[in-house]
Amino acid sequence: MSPPSLVDADPPAPPQRNGLEALPRESPPPPSLSVGDPSPGSEYGALAVKIKAYVEAGDTVRFMSALKELRDRFPENAAANRELGRAYVQKGENTIGLYYLEQALAVEPGDPATLQALSLAYYRTEDLERARQTIRQFLAVVPDDRSMKDFLERVEREHRIQSSFITERSDHFDLFYDSSEFRQLGRPILRLLEEAYRKVGADLGVYPDQPVSVLLYSNRSFREVTASPDWTGGIFDGKIRLPVRDMDPDDPRLTALITHEFVHAVVHGVAVRCPTWLNEGLAMYFEGRSLPSIRVRADLRQFEGSFMSLNPDQARAAYLLSLSAVSYLIREFGMYRVREILLHINQAPSFQEAFDHEMPLGYDDFIRRWHNA
Ligand SMILES: [Zn+2]
Repeated sequence: MSPPSLVDADPPAPPQRNGLEALPRESPPPPSLSVGDPSPGSEYGALAVKIKAYVEAGDTVRFMSALKELRDRFPENAAANRELGRAYVQKGENTIGLYYLEQALAVEPGDPATLQALSLAYYRTEDLERARQTIRQFLAVVPDDRSMKDFLERVEREHRIQSSFITERSDHFDLFYDSSEFRQLGRPILRLLEEAYRKVGADLGVYPDQPVSVLLYSNRSFREVTASPDWTGGIFDGKIRLPVRDMDPDDPRLTALITHEFVHAVVHGVAVRCPTWLNEGLAMYFEGRSLPSIRVRADLRQFEGSFMSLNPDQARAAYLLSLSAVSYLIREFGMYRVREILLHINQAPSFQEAFDHEMPLGYDDFIRRWHNA
């Protein structure tokens, strides 16, 4: 069933699978921001007005500094703590986000917005027990929230599988696994992850700014947790999840798999809306895959969304096409341009605009030239 040359390729999880994981990290602050009623004339009101203006302008930097100022001036205020906490969680800075959200909850127990953000931060920091309790508290207040019900189901499934997991950490990774199954793999995998960190970082010039969570599974647990198609060999959905049953630490496929998923973690950190062809093409490029002898071309615009629903043959073609386009992009325009495009994606209204802004030729011209190459 799995295309043999692609068993270790994977798609990124589609955002719709878990709306919470899809929170953009560096994009404009949450539109639902509510710092309370800005009563004119008060210091709180003046700051709240400023914060709302920064939200509307998409000015993340000033937004954060104004939120910090608000919280410093009103440390007992639930909304100030909650919004600062949510903003940190949005940026992926979960530990500091947790601190402010817990403060907010102490002032205003049962506030659904606080509980929702808290549950996500607990989930991301692998505190699944607290994540589960917090989602239940949320559902006690808002019982019909579909996405939070799905989230609870997901957390409970992972919690069952991970109850026996231990944690090992390196400089840039937190690794979680069942030590009775994978005792021999923990350290070697952390070493491979750190190697990928150095290699990809040196070439691409982008690094994740937070430790990346990595989970090891048996094949069966992996399918149960990720519900991914048979042909996937690993997944990145905010955390790197690897099925590693019976894998030798020296198996080159393991290095390729780890490098591949790590590239997704890097891309996710800077460009959460990166098109799939660019994301997958880069992951395969850094794995060191060579281009196929057959020539594959298609309109790249049709490969911007998830590959998850493709059958194995279509998936194989989509991955080869992605690798071909990215290899051409790097060869003709350099890795520097790729980095600039990635760094611009979150600020631009569309990928086309990010591409056109950073490249000496437009997206359409690029596709045409690649077709003729
Ligand atoms: Zn992939």
